[in-house]
Amino acid sequence: MTDQCPSCQSASVITKDIARKIGAIIGTVGGAAQGVTGVRAGAQVGAVIGVAAGPAGVIAGGMAGAILGGLAGAATGCIAGAKLGEVIDERVLDNYVCLDCGLSFSCRHSA
Ligand SMILES: [Zn+2]
Repeated sequence: MTDQCPSCQSASVITKDIARKIGAIIGTVGGAAQGVTGVRAGAQVGAVIGVAAGPAGVIAGGMAGAILGGLAGAATGCIAGAKLGEVIDERVLDNYVCLDCGLSFSCRHSA
C-alpha cells in the first residue's frame, strides 16, 4: 500500500509516529515503576532458589530475580505504551507528512 499526499499526490510521505515514541517512553518508565513489585517478588524468589547454593547464591539469585522483574515490567510497559501511541497517531494526530509540500494529514489515501 502506498501512502499518497492528498494535495500534490506525491508518494514522498512519511509517518511522524510522535505519540508512538512518547507512548513507548512513558510506558517504559511506568512499566519499570510498576515492575518494582516484580523486582521485589523476583528478588525473593531468586533468593529462595539461591539458598540452596549458599550465601553467594542468595545474593546472585536475588539480583537476577530483581533485574528480570524490572526488565519484564519495562518491556511490557514499553509495548503497551507504543501500542497506545500508535492508536493516537492513527486516530487523533496528523501522523502523515508530505515531504514535497509539507502537508500534514491524518488518514491513509490509497492510490
Ligand atoms: Zn504533498
